Amino acid sequence: MTEALLTLPSSVRLSECVWRILGLNPGKFTLQGTNTYLLGKGRKKLLIDSGEGVPEYVSLLKQTLQESSPDAAISDIIISHGHRDHWGGIRDILSSVDLNPDNDIRVHKFPLSTGSCSGHMEHFPSDIDLQPMHHGQIFTADGVTLRVVYTPGHTKDHCTFWLEEEQSLFTADCVLGHGSAVFEDLSSYMDGLQQLRQLQPKKLYPGHGPVIENGVAKIDEYIQHRQYREQQVIHLMKTNRDRNWTVMDIVEELYKDYPPSLHLPAAGGIVLHLRKLQKDGLVRTACDVQMEDMRTKVWEWHDEETPKV
Ligand SMILES: [Zn+2]
Repeated sequence: MTEALLTLPSSVRLSECVWRILGLNPGKFTLQGTNTYLLGKGRKKLLIDSGEGVPEYVSLLKQTLQESSPDAAISDIIISHGHRDHWGGIRDILSSVDLNPDNDIRVHKFPLSTGSCSGHMEHFPSDIDLQPMHHGQIFTADGVTLRVVYTPGHTKDHCTFWLEEEQSLFTADCVLGHGSAVFEDLSSYMDGLQQLRQLQPKKLYPGHGPVIENGVAKIDEYIQHRQYREQQVIHLMKTNRDRNWTVMDIVEELYKDYPPSLHLPAAGGIVLHLRKLQKDGLVRTACDVQMEDMRTKVWEWHDEETPKV
């Protein structure tokens, strides 16, 4: 948790057809900044994500593009999900003549259905035409066959990308190069991790942090981390099945060896575990619990032996 971050070069070629350019927005939640990836051996380039909108990013992208091939041009920008640090630089890129000599860059993103707001996107420039991306869609460039793998959980619109030629994955915010990821819905997040595991990826190119060389082992570590926490919640509530819990009661038990300052941040994760266990039928609550109800004693163990009276 307190492990130091590796220093990453602001722009680097990672393989025959993958370049990583940092969004230059380091921070508590973005680690070394948001990674953007330029793909393709030839003139045509695909760009995964577009940074947060730091002005210096565009010149760094230009420089990388020119170094990759003097006549290189971006044909498509593929946005992994609606968090602003992944798309905030889009306007700067689209208005840069050097990146876009023919003025024909297409921008793709998984569409949100009505009512499934993913935050952040309400600020997305309304005059930019977003092409609706779908699960299984293929993007190509020289040496690149990139397949969209829809993996909600971090957000409802989150996608990852399978690079056929390298048998590797661009994981965006589903798996990070450092620490653990946050998510909105644990059930779909876990389903997403299982889906990625089945692909048996060699390398992972995350949305934040360094490349992960042993993809399957890292995904297993993420799955096990979440399962371990889930088992802890199950054990605690099952062995104390007669009582009601607040979220903070659970946090104080499970995080008793951590400083109290970490208890509140941990509570959000426990709420997500409880919601999943509720979906799985193992715990129940009297009402629809919101994040702000953390001090209300509403959670209890639920199985056949403890029928509700
Ligand atoms: Zn995100």
